Order: sequence, then structure tokens, then C-alpha cells
Amino acid sequence: MIHTILRAMTSISPDGRGAGSALDPSGEQIRDMAARAVDWIATHHDSIRDLPIAPRTSAAALRELLAEPLPAEGRDFADLLTIFRDVVVPGTRHNGHPRFFGYVSAPGTAVAAVADFLASALNANLPAWRSAPAPVELEHVAIDWIKEALGCDPGAGGLFTSGGSMANLTALAAARHRHCGDTVATHGAAAHPAPLRVYASTETHHSIHKAAALLGIGRANVREIPVDAHFRMDLDALVRAIVEDRAGGAEPFCVVANAGTVVTGAVDPLADIAAVAREYGLWMHVDACYGGFARLAPSARPLLDGMSEADSISLDPHKWLYLPADCGCLIYRDPEAARPAFSLDADYTRVTQTEPAEAFAFWDYGPDLSRRFRALKVWMALAHAGSEAVGDAIESNIDCARHLADLVEGSADFELLAPVGLSIFCFRYLPPSARAGTRSPADEEELDRLNERIMVALQQGGSSYLSNATINGRFALRGCVLNHRTTRRDMEILLDDVRRAAEQVVRETP
Ligand SMILES: *Cc1c(COP(=O)(O)O)cnc(C)c1O
Repeated sequence: MIHTILRAMTSISPDGRGAGSALDPSGEQIRDMAARAVDWIATHHDSIRDLPIAPRTSAAALRELLAEPLPAEGRDFADLLTIFRDVVVPGTRHNGHPRFFGYVSAPGTAVAAVADFLASALNANLPAWRSAPAPVELEHVAIDWIKEALGCDPGAGGLFTSGGSMANLTALAAARHRHCGDTVATHGAAAHPAPLRVYASTETHHSIHKAAALLGIGRANVREIPVDAHFRMDLDALVRAIVEDRAGGAEPFCVVANAGTVVTGAVDPLADIAAVAREYGLWMHVDACYGGFARLAPSARPLLDGMSEADSISLDPHKWLYLPADCGCLIYRDPEAARPAFSLDADYTRVTQTEPAEAFAFWDYGPDLSRRFRALKVWMALAHAGSEAVGDAIESNIDCARHLADLVEGSADFELLAPVGLSIFCFRYLPPSARAGTRSPADEEELDRLNERIMVALQQGGSSYLSNATINGRFALRGCVLNHRTTRRDMEILLDDVRRAAEQVVRETP
């Protein structure tokens, strides 16, 4: 269908090759394309608060509009931008809306979008220093700023990754290699004589289990440690598990601590876990993908004490640094401890530089060879806003979550289901019939179903967006404030929207 629209719209079809063609446009043509695109960016940025958050569409409807055979002939950029504006934009969820509270999702900032545009235009590739000297130095600078924000040692080092899952996988690979050495790298996981064990709380993100599966450690060897009433790892249970596993012939090699779980925002007792890791010789990894940057907010800072003692820390600048996807980050306390897991000799990776800083290669610290210039958006966004403004925004997000919790606790029709950790809140709606007296298991199941329908109605309404979580077996409406645009007023509007969704669901119940 789009094919026919376009044929009608496209007056001149650009040639494929040669100066002034689609593959090699003139400066004038580039300015024209970019001006049209930037005009859209500015309008989108100004109007984001007024857009419906989630699209009401279907895969079939979108395919009808978008699917077509590979075009043999080129088309005008303006026509393609029209499809982007009229089909793609309304068909996506707007994570930048100030009342999008689903998952752990950043809004994206304009300066970072522009930085991504510049990075692609420069097309620097960052496997090693020699490939892109200044971009690589800028990545070191951006990593140093992140180390400073986290309170890491000057000797720490790291790199940007596609996301937090990749950072977690990379950290576990480094941890395993330190424990197993070259045997496993050369002969495979079966060459290691005993089962390996990783410890992580029951609240840990599934990318840790996935990493264990992919690395041949095995999902079943991620031993889940119970949590306390605040969803933090139970330290005694951790020590008991390590001692028991050792006695049984398994080899504990790594403990993963959470600096902000995705379900409730809980922060594990990091300094205590670091002491256990030291005592038992375990690699300590902190999954700080959600909460790590909260160290820039004064009220959250003490919670993150001990984080810098970890051997590795995963972060997601595409979460609480408000950057557009994708950008994950991994920091090693001692980068040289990680290097043997990744460095390989090949003709194309032979380095002729003798100055160590110039012989540096990111491929020695992670799985990637070609790497995007992600550092540009991190550097530009941090330098443009300054760490104080970012810290203020994070503090304000935390304040918004606490405000929501206060409103919930002061209401008769809502119930808080977990303590607010950082900027995550979990609650549910209580209909009048459920507000007093004790509830049977059947009543609880009824509440689960009711709240799930409220969530769907809320998402379809387009004004506010929550996702879900299971808290102590019960369905929870869950939100995460991770947007510099969100205000206390938005939290009040959210509760009104949930009330309206609840009325609608109750009305529609036969
Ligand atoms: C988001 C998140 C991840 C996964 O990160 P991606 O960037 O989505 O791959 C892992 N752990 C935690 C705690 C997270 O919040």
C-alpha cells in the first residue's frame, strides 16, 4: 500500500550513484534532509506531553502500512520522512512522556539525540585507540566522569556496551575467567572439574540468569538468596549458601549485588556483601543498571556506600542519565583482572603502537570488536547539563515516587504493596468491598484480576502508563519515575487516571 502512495508522491526519484545522488548527496541536499528531520525533532520535543503515551494499533495494521518488497529504485527522503512521521511515530510508545512510568525507561534528551546524529555522521569506530584516537580518549573521559559519580578508585576503568544485559554478561565472563583461567576458555565449560556457583538475590534481573546460561555456567548454578521485608539480600542466608556449596563440592566464584532492583528499587547491603566477597574470595559484581547513578542524588547516596568496592559494576546511561538507547556501561575496579578473559591475538588486532595509551584496545575488555561512538552522547549530555542538574533531576524523581507513596497511604482506595526503593513504587486499587475486614485467598485473586484490568485500561487511556509486578504473590501496579520532565503534579494526575480506569473497569464488569 505504501508503495502506491509513494509512487504518487515521489516526483523525482534520485539516482542511486554519483555526486548529488542518494548515496552521495550534495551539501545542499544534506542540509535539506537534516533541516526537515531537525524540524520534526523540535516539534516532537515541544509536544511530547500532549501525545497519547501508548499506540492503539496491531501488528496486522502496521504491516499493512509498512510491509513491502525491497524497493529496487530510490525515493525522495522527504517521502520517507513522511512515513516516519505519519506511521512510525504514532505507532510507537512515547517513553519520553512525563507520565510514562513503565519498566525502567529513559526519556532521551535532545542533546544526546543530536550527539548520536553527529556520532553517526562522523562514523568513528572504536575498537582501539588507533582506530579513533580522540573518540577513544573521549570514552575514557566519559568513563572517568562516571567513576567519579560512583566514587570509584582512580585505577578503575571500563567501557560502554549496548546495554545492561551485555554489561552483566561481560562481567560474568570476566569473573568466570578469573576463577577458571584458560582451561574453560580453551576447552569449554565441561573442562572445569566442579560446578560453579553465582549468588544473587531472588529479586535479581534475569539478564544474570541469561548470562549464566550463555556462558555455560548454567542457570541452575545461579543460587537465589532470599530477601528481607525491604527486598534486600539476606546476608546470613548468603553466607550459609556459600558454606553449604563449598562443603558439597561446588565452587562459589561470584556474588551479584543489586543497586536498585527492577521490581521494587531495593538496594542490597553493598558494603556487607563486599566483606563477604572478600572473605570467601568471590568476584563481586554490582548490577547498578537502574540505581547506580542515584549516587548523584544526596538522599540516595548513603544507600550506595560499598558499591565502589565491587570488582565490576554494570550501569545503564540509557536509564538514569536520561540518554536515548542504546548505552550500557561496565566498570572494572582492576581492568587488568578482566583482560585475560577477552584478549586474543589475530593479525587484524595486532597493535604496532608502543605507548601503552596508544596500544589500548577496548576488545581486550569485552566481546565487541566494532563499537559505536556512544561516548559522544554521554560526554555531551553530562557536559551540557552538568552533574548538579542531573543529580537534581534524579533527586526530584525520587521525591515524586515518595510523593506518590504518601498519596497512596493517605487514601482510602489505594494500598502500597512495597516500600518505595529509589524511584519505584508498587501499589494497587482497593474497591469499597475490599477496604475493611480480612480477605480470603479468593478475594485476593479477585483483586489481582481487577488490578490487571485497571492497568490495561490505564495503558489504553493514553494519559498515564504503569507496568506490573508480582509482590509477595500479588498483582501490583508498578511505576518507575525516570524522567526529568515528571513533576509532583504528574503523580497526582496518575492517581486520578488510575481512579478513572478503575471506575471504567467496574462499570464494564457484568
Ligand atoms: C535494565 C536492567 C537490566 C538490563 O539492561 P538492558 O540495558 O535492558 O539490557 C539489568 N539489570 C537491571 C537492574 C536493570 O534495571
